[in-house]
Amino acid sequence: MSDKTHFGFEEVNAVDKSKKVGNVFHSVAEEYDLMNDVMSFGMHRLWKRMLLELSGLTENSTVLDIASGTADIPKLIIEKFPSSEIHVTDINESMLMVGKERAINENFYQNCSFALASGEVLPYQDNTFDLVTIGFGLRNFTDKQAGLMEMKRVLKSNGILLILEFSKPTNSIFSKIYDWYSFNIIPKLGGLFVNDEDSYRYLAESIRMHPAQEELKAMVLDAGFEECKFYNLVNGVVAIHQAK
Ligand code: SAM
Repeated sequence: MSDKTHFGFEEVNAVDKSKKVGNVFHSVAEEYDLMNDVMSFGMHRLWKRMLLELSGLTENSTVLDIASGTADIPKLIIEKFPSSEIHVTDINESMLMVGKERAINENFYQNCSFALASGEVLPYQDNTFDLVTIGFGLRNFTDKQAGLMEMKRVLKSNGILLILEFSKPTNSIFSKIYDWYSFNIIPKLGGLFVNDEDSYRYLAESIRMHPAQEELKAMVLDAGFEECKFYNLVNGVVAIHQAK
């Protein structure tokens, strides 16, 4: 991995990125769910449901959700497959704590194990999981390729990887409107609801720096996965990459 990386549009030392990302998510943890609804007009709920549709999951499966945040994806999985066992992980203590409290309050704690862990160095043995999911987490990694290789390592040989992440709109006019919304409105919403414009400016910038659909697909295949496909949602604002 190179010594330099990006934190949004800023070039930073690779060793400093995870601390900077940590500060963003410590700052927004309590209001994270509210902001997701506000910024996406509630659409993130639908995108997560679509992710689950692509999981091929059956009962009694063992699942790893990386960068779980407030545990939206684990909750959906347990609602649909109540006998699944889910390992809920995040690098950020504040976010993981919100997820844990929610699992207790909303009664799905019994299916979950929680671990403070980076998706780039997973504390699990090889060939452990039937499904690995990651929602809106990968673009924050310092070394995305290392993260993908870890996901491959911990998946069983017939396991499935699902990555839900912001991507690149396919229509150029739509893309201009989306850029305007991302850089002018989203930081203002962050200021208004969380009193933190900078974190939401980072969000917009980090989305632009993340690999587009085909590039991410190539990275997934390079990490040793097979049959990688992607599904564009809302004209490619978001994509789900699915691989075996
Ligand atoms: N998955 C949740 C969702 O879809 O709503 C939360 C997504 S939130 C935008 C991104 C999460 O990624 C944060 O909780 C953050 O702490 C976590 N994260 C950032 N870098 C990470 C890393 N290297 N390993 C694991 N989690 C990471």
